[in-house]
Amino acid sequence: MSRTLVVRLSATFLALGCAWIAYTQAPPQQGKQQAKQANNKLNKIADDLYEIEGDGGNVAVYITNEGVIVVDDKFEYDFNDIMAKIKSVTAQPVKYVLNTHHHGDHSGSNEHFLPTAEIISTANARKNMINGKQPGAPRVVFTDETDVFLGGKQVQMRYFGRGHTNGDAMVYFPALKVLHTGDLMAGASPLIDYSGGGSLKEWAATLDAAMKLDFDTVIPGHGPVAKKADMLTYRNNVEKLRMEVSDMLRQNKSRDEIAKVVQDKYGWAPTGLQFQVGFDGMLAELKR
Ligand SMILES: [Zn+2]
Repeated sequence: MSRTLVVRLSATFLALGCAWIAYTQAPPQQGKQQAKQANNKLNKIADDLYEIEGDGGNVAVYITNEGVIVVDDKFEYDFNDIMAKIKSVTAQPVKYVLNTHHHGDHSGSNEHFLPTAEIISTANARKNMINGKQPGAPRVVFTDETDVFLGGKQVQMRYFGRGHTNGDAMVYFPALKVLHTGDLMAGASPLIDYSGGGSLKEWAATLDAAMKLDFDTVIPGHGPVAKKADMLTYRNNVEKLRMEVSDMLRQNKSRDEIAKVVQDKYGWAPTGLQFQVGFDGMLAELKR
Protein backbone atom coordinates (compact mmCIF):
# COMPACT_ATOMS: atom_id res chain seq x y z
CA MET A 1 0.00 0.00 0.00
CA SER A 2 1.47 3.36 -0.98
CA ARG A 3 2.09 5.92 1.70
CA THR A 4 -0.30 8.37 0.02
CA LEU A 5 -3.05 5.78 0.07
CA VAL A 6 -2.35 4.96 3.70
CA VAL A 7 -2.53 8.64 4.62
CA ARG A 8 -5.72 9.17 2.63
CA LEU A 9 -7.36 6.05 4.06
CA SER A 10 -6.16 6.93 7.56
CA ALA A 11 -7.85 10.31 7.30
CA THR A 12 -11.08 8.66 6.20
CA PHE A 13 -10.92 6.08 8.97
CA LEU A 14 -10.04 8.57 11.65
CA ALA A 15 -13.03 10.60 10.60
CA LEU A 16 -15.09 7.53 11.36
CA GLY A 17 -13.09 6.71 14.45
CA CYS A 18 -12.05 3.27 13.28
CA ALA A 19 -8.67 2.72 11.72
CA TRP A 20 -7.91 -0.94 11.69
CA ILE A 21 -6.99 -1.41 8.05
CA ALA A 22 -4.51 1.44 8.10
CA TYR A 23 -3.13 -0.12 11.24
CA THR A 24 -2.99 -3.75 10.18
CA GLN A 25 -1.77 -3.18 6.64
CA ALA A 26 0.79 -0.54 7.51
CA PRO A 27 2.47 -1.51 10.79
CA PRO A 28 3.41 1.58 12.78
CA GLN A 29 6.83 3.01 12.17
CA GLN A 30 8.43 4.69 15.11
CA GLY A 31 8.88 8.09 13.44
CA LYS A 32 5.36 8.34 12.16
CA GLN A 33 3.87 7.27 15.46
CA GLN A 34 5.92 9.80 17.40
CA ALA A 35 4.62 12.49 15.08
CA LYS A 36 1.07 11.61 16.10
CA GLN A 37 -0.20 13.51 19.10
CA ALA A 38 -2.67 11.83 21.39
CA ASN A 39 -5.83 13.84 21.94
CA ASN A 40 -8.00 12.39 24.70
CA LYS A 41 -10.20 13.42 27.59
CA LEU A 42 -10.71 11.61 30.90
CA ASN A 43 -14.35 11.36 32.06
CA LYS A 44 -15.47 10.15 35.47
CA ILE A 45 -18.36 7.67 35.47
CA ALA A 46 -18.09 6.53 39.11
CA ASP A 47 -15.55 6.89 41.91
CA ASP A 48 -13.74 3.80 40.62
CA LEU A 49 -14.65 3.92 36.91
CA TYR A 50 -13.33 6.36 34.31
CA GLU A 51 -13.61 6.59 30.54
CA ILE A 52 -10.98 7.94 28.14
CA GLU A 53 -12.52 9.40 25.01
CA GLY A 54 -10.91 10.96 21.93
CA ASP A 55 -8.63 9.02 19.59
CA GLY A 56 -9.86 5.62 18.48
CA GLY A 57 -12.10 3.51 20.70
CA ASN A 58 -13.33 4.47 24.16
CA VAL A 59 -11.20 3.15 27.02
CA ALA A 60 -12.68 2.14 30.38
CA VAL A 61 -10.51 2.30 33.52
CA TYR A 62 -11.74 0.31 36.55
CA ILE A 63 -9.78 0.91 39.74
CA THR A 64 -9.43 -1.69 42.50
CA ASN A 65 -7.07 -1.85 45.48
CA GLU A 66 -5.17 -4.69 43.78
CA GLY A 67 -4.72 -3.03 40.41
CA VAL A 68 -6.52 -1.53 37.42
CA ILE A 69 -8.64 -3.28 34.79
CA VAL A 70 -8.60 -1.46 31.45
CA VAL A 71 -11.01 -2.07 28.56
CA ASP A 72 -9.44 -1.38 25.12
CA ASP A 73 -6.28 0.64 24.56
CA LYS A 74 -6.72 2.84 21.45
CA PHE A 75 -3.78 3.32 19.05
CA GLU A 76 -0.13 2.63 19.74
CA TYR A 77 0.59 6.35 19.94
CA ASP A 78 -2.03 6.77 22.70
CA PHE A 79 -0.22 4.49 25.17
CA ASN A 80 1.66 7.22 27.05
CA ASP A 81 -1.43 9.40 27.26
CA ILE A 82 -3.59 6.51 28.51
CA MET A 83 -1.00 5.78 31.21
CA ALA A 84 -0.72 9.45 32.20
CA LYS A 85 -4.49 9.69 32.57
CA ILE A 86 -4.65 6.49 34.65
CA LYS A 87 -1.81 7.76 36.88
CA SER A 88 -3.72 11.02 37.42
CA VAL A 89 -6.47 9.07 39.25
CA THR A 90 -4.69 6.06 40.82
CA ALA A 91 -1.25 4.78 41.78
CA GLN A 92 -2.37 1.18 41.12
CA PRO A 93 -0.70 -0.68 38.24
CA VAL A 94 -2.66 -1.93 35.21
CA LYS A 95 -3.17 -5.67 35.73
CA TYR A 96 -5.64 -6.54 32.95
CA VAL A 97 -6.45 -5.15 29.52
CA LEU A 98 -9.67 -6.49 28.02
CA ASN A 99 -9.90 -6.10 24.23
CA THR A 100 -13.45 -5.81 22.91
CA HIS A 101 -12.18 -6.79 19.42
CA HIS A 102 -9.12 -6.87 17.19
CA HIS A 103 -9.26 -3.48 15.44
CA GLY A 104 -6.12 -1.40 15.88
CA ASP A 105 -8.01 1.57 17.30
CA HIS A 106 -9.05 -0.65 20.25
CA SER A 107 -5.95 -2.86 20.65
CA GLY A 108 -3.16 -0.63 19.34
CA SER A 109 -1.35 -0.23 22.67
CA ASN A 110 -1.42 -3.97 23.47
CA GLU A 111 2.27 -4.40 22.72
CA HIS A 112 3.13 -1.92 25.50
CA PHE A 113 0.79 -3.46 28.07
CA LEU A 114 1.63 -7.10 27.35
CA PRO A 115 4.93 -7.26 29.30
CA THR A 116 3.27 -6.21 32.57
CA ALA A 117 -0.46 -6.94 32.20
CA GLU A 118 -2.63 -9.84 31.10
CA ILE A 119 -4.58 -9.09 27.93
CA ILE A 120 -7.81 -11.00 27.29
CA SER A 121 -10.02 -11.21 24.19
CA THR A 122 -12.29 -13.68 22.47
CA ALA A 123 -10.54 -16.47 20.58
CA ASN A 124 -11.79 -15.02 17.28
CA ALA A 125 -10.51 -11.53 18.07
CA ARG A 126 -7.07 -13.02 18.76
CA LYS A 127 -7.21 -14.99 15.49
CA ASN A 128 -8.05 -11.77 13.63
CA MET A 129 -5.07 -10.01 15.28
CA ILE A 130 -2.75 -12.83 14.27
CA ASN A 131 -4.11 -12.81 10.69
CA GLY A 132 -3.60 -9.05 10.55
CA LYS A 133 -0.05 -9.42 11.91
CA GLN A 134 -0.93 -6.99 14.72
CA PRO A 135 1.51 -6.85 17.63
CA GLY A 136 0.49 -7.66 21.21
CA ALA A 137 -1.98 -10.51 20.69
CA PRO A 138 -3.52 -11.66 23.99
CA ARG A 139 -2.14 -14.69 25.84
CA VAL A 140 -5.56 -15.48 27.31
CA VAL A 141 -8.76 -16.02 25.29
CA PHE A 142 -12.31 -17.25 25.84
CA THR A 143 -15.25 -18.26 23.67
CA ASP A 144 -18.49 -17.38 25.50
CA GLU A 145 -17.64 -15.75 28.78
CA THR A 146 -14.98 -15.11 31.36
CA ASP A 147 -14.79 -13.10 34.57
CA VAL A 148 -11.95 -11.17 36.14
CA PHE A 149 -11.87 -10.87 39.95
CA LEU A 150 -9.53 -8.27 41.36
CA GLY A 151 -9.50 -6.39 44.66
CA GLY A 152 -12.94 -7.72 45.62
CA LYS A 153 -14.47 -6.48 42.36
CA GLN A 154 -15.77 -8.41 39.37
CA VAL A 155 -15.80 -7.68 35.67
CA GLN A 156 -17.64 -9.93 33.23
CA MET A 157 -16.58 -10.35 29.62
CA ARG A 158 -19.20 -11.83 27.32
CA TYR A 159 -19.46 -12.90 23.69
CA PHE A 160 -23.09 -12.52 22.58
CA GLY A 161 -22.69 -13.23 18.86
CA ARG A 162 -21.56 -11.68 15.60
CA GLY A 163 -22.08 -8.09 14.56
CA HIS A 164 -19.25 -5.63 13.96
CA THR A 165 -16.86 -8.64 13.67
CA ASN A 166 -16.99 -12.34 14.59
CA GLY A 167 -15.20 -11.75 17.89
CA ASP A 168 -16.75 -8.76 19.68
CA ALA A 169 -16.85 -9.00 23.45
CA MET A 170 -18.82 -6.74 25.73
CA VAL A 171 -17.56 -5.92 29.19
CA TYR A 172 -20.01 -5.67 32.08
CA PHE A 173 -19.39 -3.99 35.43
CA PRO A 174 -22.20 -5.51 37.55
CA ALA A 175 -21.60 -3.45 40.69
CA LEU A 176 -21.93 -0.22 38.70
CA LYS A 177 -24.54 -1.37 36.14
CA VAL A 178 -22.31 -0.21 33.31
CA LEU A 179 -21.75 -2.00 29.97
CA HIS A 180 -18.88 -1.35 27.55
CA THR A 181 -20.22 -2.47 24.17
CA GLY A 182 -17.12 -2.16 22.00
CA ASP A 183 -18.07 -1.35 18.40
CA LEU A 184 -21.33 -3.34 18.60
CA MET A 185 -22.62 0.15 19.40
CA ALA A 186 -20.66 2.98 17.80
CA GLY A 187 -21.74 5.91 15.70
CA ALA A 188 -25.30 6.19 14.43
CA SER A 189 -25.30 3.30 11.98
CA PRO A 190 -23.39 0.00 12.06
CA LEU A 191 -19.96 -0.54 10.57
CA ILE A 192 -19.98 -4.17 9.43
CA ASP A 193 -16.46 -5.55 9.00
CA TYR A 194 -17.12 -8.51 6.72
CA SER A 195 -13.42 -9.33 6.37
CA GLY A 196 -13.38 -9.61 10.17
CA GLY A 197 -16.39 -11.95 10.20
CA GLY A 198 -19.07 -9.29 10.81
CA SER A 199 -22.77 -9.84 10.20
CA LEU A 200 -25.69 -7.43 9.84
CA LYS A 201 -28.17 -10.33 9.98
CA GLU A 202 -27.02 -11.39 13.44
CA TRP A 203 -26.24 -7.95 14.88
CA ALA A 204 -29.66 -7.15 16.43
CA ALA A 205 -29.90 -10.56 18.13
CA THR A 206 -26.44 -9.98 19.58
CA LEU A 207 -27.57 -6.66 21.06
CA ASP A 208 -30.83 -8.22 22.31
CA ALA A 209 -28.85 -10.83 24.23
CA ALA A 210 -26.64 -8.15 25.78
CA MET A 211 -29.60 -5.99 26.77
CA LYS A 212 -30.84 -8.78 29.06
CA LEU A 213 -28.08 -7.70 31.44
CA ASP A 214 -29.03 -5.29 34.21
CA PHE A 215 -27.32 -1.99 33.34
CA ASP A 216 -28.14 1.71 33.03
CA THR A 217 -25.00 3.23 31.54
CA VAL A 218 -23.38 2.35 28.22
CA ILE A 219 -19.82 3.05 27.18
CA PRO A 220 -20.07 2.66 23.41
CA GLY A 221 -17.09 1.77 21.22
CA HIS A 222 -16.90 5.38 20.06
CA GLY A 223 -18.72 8.56 21.04
CA PRO A 224 -20.16 9.86 24.29
CA VAL A 225 -21.30 7.73 27.25
CA ALA A 226 -24.95 6.76 26.75
CA LYS A 227 -27.94 5.08 28.41
CA LYS A 228 -29.58 1.71 27.89
CA ALA A 229 -32.44 3.41 25.97
CA ASP A 230 -29.87 4.71 23.47
CA MET A 231 -28.72 1.14 22.92
CA LEU A 232 -32.27 0.11 22.09
CA THR A 233 -32.51 2.98 19.60
CA TYR A 234 -29.23 1.84 18.05
CA ARG A 235 -30.46 -1.77 17.90
CA ASN A 236 -33.68 -0.70 16.16
CA ASN A 237 -31.69 1.31 13.64
CA VAL A 238 -29.55 -1.76 12.87
CA GLU A 239 -32.69 -3.80 12.27
CA LYS A 240 -34.28 -1.07 10.15
CA LEU A 241 -31.22 -1.04 7.90
CA ARG A 242 -31.31 -4.83 7.54
CA MET A 243 -35.01 -4.87 6.68
CA GLU A 244 -34.85 -1.95 4.29
CA VAL A 245 -31.88 -3.34 2.33
CA SER A 246 -33.45 -6.84 2.29
CA ASP A 247 -36.67 -5.36 0.86
CA MET A 248 -34.78 -3.49 -1.84
CA LEU A 249 -32.91 -6.67 -2.79
CA ARG A 250 -36.21 -8.54 -3.08
CA GLN A 251 -37.47 -5.76 -5.35
CA ASN A 252 -34.33 -6.24 -7.50
CA LYS A 253 -33.17 -2.67 -6.91
CA SER A 254 -29.77 -1.91 -8.39
CA ARG A 255 -26.57 -1.58 -6.38
CA ASP A 256 -26.63 2.18 -7.06
CA GLU A 257 -30.22 2.57 -5.90
CA ILE A 258 -29.47 0.75 -2.65
CA ALA A 259 -26.25 2.72 -2.20
CA LYS A 260 -28.20 5.97 -2.47
CA VAL A 261 -30.68 4.95 0.24
CA VAL A 262 -27.91 3.80 2.58
CA GLN A 263 -26.14 7.08 1.95
CA ASP A 264 -29.16 9.38 2.35
CA LYS A 265 -31.00 7.63 5.17
CA TYR A 266 -28.18 6.01 7.14
CA GLY A 267 -25.37 8.49 6.52
CA TRP A 268 -22.90 6.06 4.97
CA ALA A 269 -20.50 8.41 3.15
CA PRO A 270 -19.70 7.04 -0.35
CA THR A 271 -15.97 7.10 0.37
CA GLY A 272 -16.32 6.20 4.06
CA LEU A 273 -15.30 3.04 5.86
CA GLN A 274 -18.86 1.80 6.37
CA PHE A 275 -19.22 1.71 2.60
CA GLN A 276 -15.76 0.37 1.83
CA VAL A 277 -15.77 -2.58 4.21
CA GLY A 278 -19.47 -3.15 4.68
CA PHE A 279 -21.59 -2.40 1.62
CA ASP A 280 -20.92 -5.26 -0.79
CA GLY A 281 -20.62 -7.73 2.05
CA MET A 282 -24.01 -6.57 3.33
CA LEU A 283 -25.63 -7.08 -0.09
CA ALA A 284 -24.07 -10.54 -0.39
CA GLU A 285 -25.17 -11.52 3.14
CA LEU A 286 -28.73 -10.28 2.75
CA LYS A 287 -29.15 -11.88 -0.70
CA ARG A 288 -28.57 -15.30 0.80
ZN1 LIG B 1 -13.93 -1.66 15.37
